[in-house]
Amino acid sequence: MPSSREILADLIAFDTTSRESNLALIDYVQRYLSDLGISSQLLFNPERSKANLYARLGPAGAGGVMLSGHSDVVPVDGQAWTVPPFALTQQQGRLYGRGTADMKGFIACVLASLPQFLAQPLRLPLHIAISYDEEVGCLGVRSLLEWLEASPERPAICLIGEPTQMQPVLGHKGKLAMRCDVHGAACHSAYAPQGVNAIEYAAKLIGKLGEIGSQLAAVERHDGRFDPPYSTVQTGVISGGRALNIVPEHCRFDFEMRALPADDPAQVLGELQSYARDELLPQMRAVNQASQIHFTELSSYPGLLTDPRSAAAQLLKLLCGDAQASTVAFGTEGGLFDAAGIATVICGPGSMEQGHKPDEYVSLTQLAACDAWLERLCGWMS
Ligand SMILES: [Zn+2]
Repeated sequence: MPSSREILADLIAFDTTSRESNLALIDYVQRYLSDLGISSQLLFNPERSKANLYARLGPAGAGGVMLSGHSDVVPVDGQAWTVPPFALTQQQGRLYGRGTADMKGFIACVLASLPQFLAQPLRLPLHIAISYDEEVGCLGVRSLLEWLEASPERPAICLIGEPTQMQPVLGHKGKLAMRCDVHGAACHSAYAPQGVNAIEYAAKLIGKLGEIGSQLAAVERHDGRFDPPYSTVQTGVISGGRALNIVPEHCRFDFEMRALPADDPAQVLGELQSYARDELLPQMRAVNQASQIHFTELSSYPGLLTDPRSAAAQLLKLLCGDAQASTVAFGTEGGLFDAAGIATVICGPGSMEQGHKPDEYVSLTQLAACDAWLERLCGWMS
């Protein structure tokens, strides 16, 4: 049977940047599974250009453990790669290529381990889930979750193999990404008071976001399990205005909140929206009735904080040895699995220090550690 390294070489060769189709990779996985006698199901996007893959082995019924990963990778555009991103290059114990760490290395180890799981009778079902469009807001996995929630064979525990250097991780922050469009009224800048300056009103909203951010950073709200230990808000993109002698009619800015699992991004957004509605819009409309402030959600996913005493956390402890569980700064599909009633923890080969960067790599040592981790899981399940 092929090793995890050999399978990883095959997986890296598929360009599954989120904007591309992932079907060639999914087809490869489906054929690999069917060669082992494992049937799998695909859940397509509406355009049928991408799919989630789901498979299970072992006894029928609910419960068991799901191994989950995303098939898509972030773009290599504009990055200074010194090795080909979509071909595996081995150098000094490291395997280079886009997605080696985030997170085809884990998927390769899972696939390589399946013959072991098949070789012995399992006392619990083993579920495999491979999603699409994780990197663009955890979009693809949602249809899989809807389907699993309705299924009588829903798993009890989900292990997500995002890169943590095989350290146990029980949580991460949630994220809400928003766009705000401010529509004012243009006029010659010499008559500025007759217009509604969209940039100036956008600036007031951004200032308000800053205030909200300071409140969120208050010491009494800190949770030391996260870095930084509080929810953060930031504006990342802004555009507006055409010329200095025209009062700008439109201004758009994008902002995000990275929320502790205990903080509700909807509440923060509500505070900003009531400021817009109750304080700014009346001022704007006093000058021009057509003024508007629109908010649009760009993406969101919930945070994750699994109880260390839960069965999922205890299983992870068993698989990882005595390592202290921690949290990570990046997001995963974990909060969505958790919200669907599947207790979720995170552990996978490689490091996010290398993820999303040029010359991304995973070390052979990390792949071997993941192979051994899966062998322990197989032992526990059989
Ligand atoms: Zn990832």
